[in-house]
Amino acid sequence: MKKFLSIIAILVLIITQTACSERGAAGGATYSYAEDWLLNTFCYIKSFEPGQEDILKEAFKLAREYESKLSRTVADSQIVTGEYDAETEALLKTALDFEELSGGAFCVHLGAVSALWDFGGTSGGPFVPGADEIKEALSAQSLDLGAIAKGYIADRVADFLRSRSVNTAVISLGGNVVCLGRKASGDDWAIGIEKPFSGGGRLEERESAGVLSVGPDSSVVTSGIYERCFTADDGSFYHHILDPESGFPCESDIVSASIAGESSCVCDALATAAVVLGSDGAAELIESYNERCGADYGYVFIKADGGSIVSPGLFYEPEI
Ligand code: FAD
Ligand code: MG
Repeated sequence: MKKFLSIIAILVLIITQTACSERGAAGGATYSYAEDWLLNTFCYIKSFEPGQEDILKEAFKLAREYESKLSRTVADSQIVTGEYDAETEALLKTALDFEELSGGAFCVHLGAVSALWDFGGTSGGPFVPGADEIKEALSAQSLDLGAIAKGYIADRVADFLRSRSVNTAVISLGGNVVCLGRKASGDDWAIGIEKPFSGGGRLEERESAGVLSVGPDSSVVTSGIYERCFTADDGSFYHHILDPESGFPCESDIVSASIAGESSCVCDALATAAVVLGSDGAAELIESYNERCGADYGYVFIKADGGSIVSPGLFYEPEI
């Protein structure tokens, strides 16, 4: 898994680099880079100025503090103990707003259900739980911010970097990418979107479905059913984005949803909701969110047949 994520991270890196060399005129490095394994995923930060490694490491320390506060798998996290500080309370409120806006497709109460499936392998999974176990876990209504917290943390890391005068950088926390500032060339940031299920299971052969161009200070977040997934002995396919009503993997026409916009937290919540809702419902949700908040979130949905649906105004170039 680590290897695969590194490959995807490298793909994003390659695409986001400026055309100029990675070495300055005097031969010195032109960037700073740090990587870490946290939130059960591969994360990296690349700043387009040299000598900022210590700041990037501090940013990871901050991300780790958020992880211990917001994780459902950390025994004394605020999510587990229920002792929320004002910040966690505000994030919970945001998450609950998305639950309402999405008609329950985005659901913060699936903690016990996700723990049963254990797609992340934290307790030796993944497993196929029994229907009775799922019913019981659904009624437990236990909190899980896994579908929004990575985006929230990416936003806080971006704020921290800005406060330390890191002005141009790419932050990648798993599938959550934040492009900080404007590229020196003035060009848009170009983010590679992974082709779902590409490579026939061979990690090193996964491909890009296309490239999404976004302006300065933008985030792109992708949720998909092709990453934390498995095929059982009887041939049934299971993935980690759950239908909150049944507690089983959701079924929709979307295989991956990439959302682009200002806040990585909002992109994260919308991306998960989109996969559950399917393309029509998801487009409606995003349009109504934009209208209500005066925002400008865009989407690329990749469908099971490989086709893509792109929101008006977003520049996405599919690989041919
Ligand atoms: P997203 O679509 O953003 O989120 C999907 C995840 O949200 C699912 O894995 C599930 O946890 C939950 N979910 C499923 N269906 C829904 C739904 N309908 N509505 C809302 N939420 C849903 N993973 C581990 O395996 N072990 C860990 O210890 C662990 N710790 C984490 C701590 C933090 C603070 C965070 C943010 C994540 C952690 N993760 C951990 C990863 C997490 O469980 C999710 O797998 C990950 O955030 C999924 O992100 P995604 O972008 O792939 O998918
Ligand atoms: Mg999400």
